[in-house]
Amino acid sequence: MAQVMMGSEVAKDLRRGIAEQIDRLKAQGRRLPRLAVVLVGDNPASLSYVRGKEKACAEVGMASLMIHLPSSTTQAQLMEQIRQLNQDATVDGILCQLPLPEGLDERQVIQEIAVDKDVDGFHPVNVGKLHLKEDGFVPCTPLGCMELLHRMGVDPAGKRAVVIGRSNLVGAPVARLLLNENATVTICHSKTADLPAVCRQADILIAAVGRAKMITSDYIKEGAAVIDVGINRTEEGRLTGDVDFDSAVEKAGWITPVPKGVGPMTIAMLLKNTMKAYYGHEGEQK
Ligand code: NDP
Repeated sequence: MAQVMMGSEVAKDLRRGIAEQIDRLKAQGRRLPRLAVVLVGDNPASLSYVRGKEKACAEVGMASLMIHLPSSTTQAQLMEQIRQLNQDATVDGILCQLPLPEGLDERQVIQEIAVDKDVDGFHPVNVGKLHLKEDGFVPCTPLGCMELLHRMGVDPAGKRAVVIGRSNLVGAPVARLLLNENATVTICHSKTADLPAVCRQADILIAAVGRAKMITSDYIKEGAAVIDVGINRTEEGRLTGDVDFDSAVEKAGWITPVPKGVGPMTIAMLLKNTMKAYYGHEGEQK
């Protein structure tokens, strides 16, 4: 029977640490870290994600700046907004909530964000730094996965890791982080042959697919650490992961649930990245 790693508890612990750092800055009368979030249009899911980020900032005492632009915003107007935030010395981190409404080019927007304020870690320079093992910003969900592994006491060095999913958002960066920590990494995708057999070799299995309960115990090696990144909605409207928790929990050594697993870690890592950007702007290494 697996031990269950509650991301919600780890995230709470991380937020507490950040709140303490901000309290110290306040006591010293210092400038506070500030995250700018740009939302274009009224996609309900995006609105709720943005509100979650605003709330998380408020809870730790971090300043935030929410910029809500109408869906009629042009590419030129959005680029100008990003440029203004790049130049604003009171802003440490900039995040543009994706997806953008149809007609707006995400790639151009990501490339416009200053590399030192790119707390989502999507800018090509930061992507390159991750691959070169240089210090930069790493996407929040993959960082959250690695933090959970560390808290499980799982050292990736020498282990076989299998990542299911190869997106730029999750699969590819988490695979690179595992490789950087000396795991032997296999990346699977929709064309992978005999996926269950590949997954059964994994000491560390990361599922980032977007298919409810696809990963049953048949995919899991006895005692493996299983991290479920997937967020899927069932017909009854409940959230569920990519892993069939009830069967997987019998075989894994460690497992993360959905909800309360990777999800809360993503926001905690966004706050952590914003603190890193802040210390960088203040000329301090942390
Ligand atoms: P994408 O749709 O961009 O990528 C999904 C990946 O899964 C692709 O590489 C795809 O392969 C692969 N895939 C699809 N079907 C299969 C299959 N049958 N067998 C093997 N591989 C398959 O999704 P994301 O990476 O953005 O997100 C993945 C999941 O994680 C989603 O459920 C998303 O909601 C969730 N998520 C959760 C976050 C959190 O905070 N917890 C944050 C971000 C995402 P191919 O490349 O060949 O198409």
